[in-house]
Amino acid sequence: MIEEVAPNIFKVEIPLPHNPLRFLNSYFIKGSKRTLIVDTGFNMPECKEAMHNALDELDIDLHETDFFITHIHADHSGLVAELTNGAPSAKVYCNKIDAVLINEGILLEYWHKVGELFRVYGFPQELLDDALIKHPAKNYCIERVVDFTFVDDGCRIGIDPYNFVCIATPGHSPGHMCLYEPEKKIFLAGDHILAKITPNITQWTEIPDTLAQYFKSLDRVYDMDINLLLPGHRQIIRDHRQRINELRQHHDVRLQEILNILDDGPQSAYQVAAKMTWSLSYKRWDDFPMPQKWFANGEAASHLEYLTQIGKLHIETKDGVYLFIK
Ligand SMILES: [Zn+2]
Repeated sequence: MIEEVAPNIFKVEIPLPHNPLRFLNSYFIKGSKRTLIVDTGFNMPECKEAMHNALDELDIDLHETDFFITHIHADHSGLVAELTNGAPSAKVYCNKIDAVLINEGILLEYWHKVGELFRVYGFPQELLDDALIKHPAKNYCIERVVDFTFVDDGCRIGIDPYNFVCIATPGHSPGHMCLYEPEKKIFLAGDHILAKITPNITQWTEIPDTLAQYFKSLDRVYDMDINLLLPGHRQIIRDHRQRINELRQHHDVRLQEILNILDDGPQSAYQVAAKMTWSLSYKRWDDFPMPQKWFANGEAASHLEYLTQIGKLHIETKDGVYLFIK
């Protein structure tokens, strides 16, 4: 589905097959000379087809198109290599931290590094082995290294009549970057702020205090003047402050739940994740598919690390695994 959400800004739904997110919202911003496409979908035939159909329908030439990738995740970055094949003039803007990780993600070494991090949080070896084969981020990522144009906080990208400013919003990913149009008060949010679903906040080696960074990034956007917030998934948001309040509340509930779980004694992030409340249709933790256990483990780890950093927990290491203690 294609919808013009502001003059010459089109929201294009890119299907994400077999994924609970269902669709990626890609945004096509048509200028008088070039088009900017914000986020692309997985490197999958279904995403490619939807992308090409939309380009045809909106009469956009790929040779006159640049790209902005909000963050590392393959549902946002996966198709960009394919789309820029044969278009050497195309710029692919991305923050440097995530851009480097996107290119490293092609390599098995990258996945071993991520695996090491997850092992510390108690993620079982057999699931790690499974992830190396099946993880969607690994299977649907870019097919070759991309020559990114790095953008920092405050960089400007003009597509007349719009003049966007890059806004660094680390948290959901280490270098997550949004686009803001101060005059028109339009904010392209990537996965920093979503309606209905809460962005996954996991642990990264690049930013050890992920959840604290995420809260800071939410506070920053809270203070901004926004009429139209365009997220990477689900519905458009009109009242960003209300949604940010809801997201903060969600994490406060999570943090309290984790403290309650730790009343039962020292536990790894994986053990805590198995006891947390998840809004998924599976009845038991054992029924969760590997990717859902992966995201849950990361989410538990980021909250446990936050509680440790603010002095509510401490860590002891047993057999190479962190045990969190109240
Ligand atoms: Zn994401």
